[in-house]
Amino acid sequence: MAEPILGGPATVVETACPLDCPDACSLAVTVQHGKVITIDGSHKNPVTDGYICAKVRKFGERVYGPDRLLHPAVRTGRKGDGRFKRASWDEALNLVVERMQRAKADAGAESILPYSYGGSNGLLTQDNLDAQLWRRFGTSRLARTVCAAPTGAANMALYGKMPSVTYQDYPDARLIILWGVNPSASGIHLVPYVRQAQKQGAKLVVIDPRTTPLAKSADVHLAVKSGTDVAVALAIHRYLFTNGHADTAFLDKHTTGADALRERAEPWTIEQAADVAGVEASALARVAELYAQSSPALVRCGWGLERNRNGGNAAMAVLALPAVAGKFGVRGGGYSMSNSASWNIDRTWIGTPEPDTRIVNMNHLGRALLEYEDPPVNVLFVYNCNPAATVPDQRRIIRGLEREDLFTVVFEQVMTDTAVYADVLLPATTFLEGYDFAKAYGPINLDLGKAVVDAVGEARSNADVFGELCARLGVLSPNEPTGELDLMLEVLNRLPEEIGEPLRAGDLPTPPFGSAPVQFVDVFPNTSDRKVHLFPAALEAEAPMGLYRFQPDPASERYPLALISPASDRTISSTLGELPRRDVKLMMHPTDAAARGLADDDAVRVFNELGEVHCILDIDAAIRPGTVSLPKGLWRRSLRSHTTGTALVPDTLTDLGGGACFNDARVQVASLPTA
Ligand code: SF4
Repeated sequence: MAEPILGGPATVVETACPLDCPDACSLAVTVQHGKVITIDGSHKNPVTDGYICAKVRKFGERVYGPDRLLHPAVRTGRKGDGRFKRASWDEALNLVVERMQRAKADAGAESILPYSYGGSNGLLTQDNLDAQLWRRFGTSRLARTVCAAPTGAANMALYGKMPSVTYQDYPDARLIILWGVNPSASGIHLVPYVRQAQKQGAKLVVIDPRTTPLAKSADVHLAVKSGTDVAVALAIHRYLFTNGHADTAFLDKHTTGADALRERAEPWTIEQAADVAGVEASALARVAELYAQSSPALVRCGWGLERNRNGGNAAMAVLALPAVAGKFGVRGGGYSMSNSASWNIDRTWIGTPEPDTRIVNMNHLGRALLEYEDPPVNVLFVYNCNPAATVPDQRRIIRGLEREDLFTVVFEQVMTDTAVYADVLLPATTFLEGYDFAKAYGPINLDLGKAVVDAVGEARSNADVFGELCARLGVLSPNEPTGELDLMLEVLNRLPEEIGEPLRAGDLPTPPFGSAPVQFVDVFPNTSDRKVHLFPAALEAEAPMGLYRFQPDPASERYPLALISPASDRTISSTLGELPRRDVKLMMHPTDAAARGLADDDAVRVFNELGEVHCILDIDAAIRPGTVSLPKGLWRRSLRSHTTGTALVPDTLTDLGGGACFNDARVQVASLPTA
């Protein structure tokens, strides 16, 4: 954080956090002499309730930190050595335009790959003028699947992304199952609602390979092996069906495919699933019994369970539970998943339909850069994203980024692991320097954030830069907005009046069904027939072994340990990963450490056939045996090996949705003799 400047008036400016976190907090930022001094939560959003995470409280360290990109620059050194010379915006954009036009003339516009993810989830910063540019220029399209693709596919197929139970209704539940989610690290505003429910007598079940803070006070903690959630959920389905707890009236009236689901669940006895998942059968039986007997019962489906070969089917099986058990129709009952689609905002401001161009799965970036032909990727344009740190198969990606014949543009706030490989660097504003619409995906909340300080250095907003590129590339239509302010007003005008008006007045809008809808009372599935599709044919065809099937663990004798990379309390995905940190630690169970002769704080190498990571060992019984954990969102600079956990992750895809299999990394760990 910037040093407080003594003297002179300070003002507190309200804005909102659009970062990739479920909560979309309302913020109160103290500004003095045009600089951010402190960032805290405001009370505008009742869920924020005046406090925020420690991550964003430190966001000033990014805004004014030594890694901030202050002006455009052009590479002068070898790819990746970080040597650049300053350029004007005009020079930099001319170069980008010239290389994009040349690429289109030489090999077609599909040889250009735009690459972005959720560095900001705001409506201005993502899928706005950038989408306009790529569609009109005819570039390759990106399947943004690094996160939430399997759960999104399941939620869409089953319920058409029906709005789900929001934080405010958790205290009404008598049973809460937190499945593959750790709100103490990400989406922290859920925690007090869970605690309140517990105080009011609710039972808590946590399903996670680690003893998370909430797992410590859970009535049952199932520390399942990564990738086995589908088996556990199917065993609960089987229990419900065979013990007369399936709600046949609800199934008949509101669902299709229940018989097929029941058939696929049939092999999964409690004992069989417990054996596969590595948990006590009695504990799993208790969870099934608690779920059958409790009402309201709420399943919070997180993103931890999707990051493996069975992730899509796991999400299907977990999200199908309330339909089979008849847990809807009561406040505090049903399921919680992403509420990002709840506002039903169709981005009409993107005036161009998607072209029928090549789709590149973002998890295959390394392959795309090194292997794709017809056409090869000749221009890569990265923004809102740091794939060199976050995307599977890091070594292959770095080899791709090192290609001398690849022209890479990185439009970023700070010098990321990816930015050092750029040919042209374009400095981007942070959310504290511009407008954006912050849309929550935990609670149902939408807010308009505004600049609290001027742009730092020569940084420009996404709207400004993509608008300018549209103009320079000749794909801008007359009277279209190009700058951030115009675009913000355009979006406001295009939002439905009941959303746009309160935002214009500085208030929070409420969706037509209320901000805390009861499923199957206030909201219903957005599927074609308004029913829950428990066995959708398209997904049965997509999954390699069919729906509700289990693919065995990829561990081998050489690489027996499952490496997971859960969210931490340090970064939002990889945002803020540039901030200095003490040694990165690998979490390992005492029995695994003893078997390898390892001691606490030993320097270790974590390795498999894809790569190697060097870090410090943290022996802790809070992780299940056979599983080790590195934090998500690490940057290469934070590790002695200059590699992160993604160097050990295969670029295989999940069974549904084409997602990343982060938790399918299987590794060995040994001491590092030359530490
Ligand atoms: S990252 Fe999440 S918890 Fe932190 S300020 Fe933003 S919305 Fe709130």
